[in-house]
Amino acid sequence: MKLPFLSLLAALSSAFAAQVTVLGLNDMHANIDALPRLATFLRAEREARPGVLLMSAGDNRTGSPYVDNVPESGMPMIELMNKLGFDISTLGNHEFDAGADQLRDCVNAANFPFVCANVRTASGPELKIAPYHFFERDGVRICVLGLVQTGHNGLPDAHPDQLKNFRFRSPLAAVRDYTFLREQCDVLILLTHMGFEDDILLAKCFPQADAIIGGHTHTRVEGGHIENGVLITQAENKVKYITRLTFEVEEGRVVSKQAELIPLGELPADEEMLAAVDAVKNMPYMQRQLTTVSKDITRRESLGCMMADALRACAGTDVAVVNMGNVRLEEFPAGPFTVADCYRLDPFCNQTVIVKVTGRELISFLNLIPAGDHHGAPCVSGMRYHAVKPAAESQPMRITSATLEDGTPIQPDATYTMATNSYLMSVVSPLPADPGRAIDLDGARSMIQHLDGKPGIDYSNVSRVDLTIE
Ligand SMILES: [Zn+2]
Repeated sequence: MKLPFLSLLAALSSAFAAQVTVLGLNDMHANIDALPRLATFLRAEREARPGVLLMSAGDNRTGSPYVDNVPESGMPMIELMNKLGFDISTLGNHEFDAGADQLRDCVNAANFPFVCANVRTASGPELKIAPYHFFERDGVRICVLGLVQTGHNGLPDAHPDQLKNFRFRSPLAAVRDYTFLREQCDVLILLTHMGFEDDILLAKCFPQADAIIGGHTHTRVEGGHIENGVLITQAENKVKYITRLTFEVEEGRVVSKQAELIPLGELPADEEMLAAVDAVKNMPYMQRQLTTVSKDITRRESLGCMMADALRACAGTDVAVVNMGNVRLEEFPAGPFTVADCYRLDPFCNQTVIVKVTGRELISFLNLIPAGDHHGAPCVSGMRYHAVKPAAESQPMRITSATLEDGTPIQPDATYTMATNSYLMSVVSPLPADPGRAIDLDGARSMIQHLDGKPGIDYSNVSRVDLTIE
């Protein structure tokens, strides 16, 4: 029999194994400072293994003010991922953090496809996300299917308000519709953001897959984990590691596969990527000066008082309470105070909640915070207090006296309005009787609003807590 030249070539090449290399990252969480080292790694890798595929298992954003808190939220990370040459990404729960419009803009700006099989748009313009995507390398067909986690409420772990335009299915149910993909490719990869435990369940119900590149639980999987014949990987988080998966493919099927976890922390920075990251950090929006700190602030509590003052002023309450764990800088030198500094002090973007409390409830709320926050006595605005605290961290603090700003004692049965953050409303127990009302304001934005245009601020000696450790 005479074979046409091309099919002869195909017949010949199929007798030899082809190799496919895939690099897996997950939960980068906008750690842009690590990207110059990643670029160095990728440069060498692409030289040694041309055609290598670079994949992200989601949560690319959320973790840096330079990415999350700019007017086009998330976009700087997409631009850096374009520069790094990502081939594909799935959606993590945090991809939804800034809402449908921002997500759509990010997906449209990416030079690579996003895949996710268990989300669809319910209203508004369609999100351009396919369930799966095909690549071809050396005649090998590689199919990548995306999946995102859903929680008890049937939604990914993001603020429900940001998810209103979408509908989700359980990833373990949705994946069953895609068994046909096995016949259409040589290598079938599930790019998931479900967490390591759920990836194991996924491998049990979908043995058709060759590998699962997972994320969400920030699990460090050394050398890959085999479950039901499926190779499962995850590379911790924040670009500390990358996983290299190698597949040997013969006659349309994977005959061997392996995974290596490679640390990136010691690599030198790539100069070009370093310049790109610096450009992101020097964006005019973040560098805008709000006010001037007139004297060095040397105590964390003083910075906490400044944050609490901003919260109280913007929320218009009698008092405000900020947990010490929410104060992310120990000190601040005299000089300019910028928008970026607000996000360095409070990167969490927790919502502000206004709660009606009795004096008794206010004192109880404050007393209970150190046991849930583990960072010490809470910072306040509009009041001051004396307290004793047992040295053991788990023991609650005991306030012995408390007054309003003007010196009048806080009355147990009087009612006050308190501004605090949604984090404390979820960790303190028991809570005041009033469940509170969340307002569209977070800690950093309250500082931007409150401090913008002030000629100067002096918090150098501010302290409102007198604490004795027993
Ligand atoms: Zn996640």
